[in-house]
Amino acid sequence: MAISRPVEQAVIREIDNYLAGHGEICACECCRNDIMALALQNLPPRYSTTRQGEVWINLELQSPQLKMDVLKAIVRAVEKVSQHPRHDS
Ligand SMILES: [Zn+2]
Repeated sequence: MAISRPVEQAVIREIDNYLAGHGEICACECCRNDIMALALQNLPPRYSTTRQGEVWINLELQSPQLKMDVLKAIVRAVEKVSQHPRHDS
């Protein structure tokens, strides 16, 4: 199931912000990609797919609730990836 692009773009932007503000988190390409994939998986299903959802997301992209959901999904993804990084050390 594909996630609509506006959500994906918002999540990627937030991840880059988050990583920029947290120098202790590995931001190599491997970890960054894993964090993105996991964060998108962690988002509630209502942020996905349908055309209606896409319209909704464009309207709501600035809402505190959505930002909070996105941030929570990112934090969870970061925790998981930091605990089990797949990059070569
Ligand atoms: Zn890494």
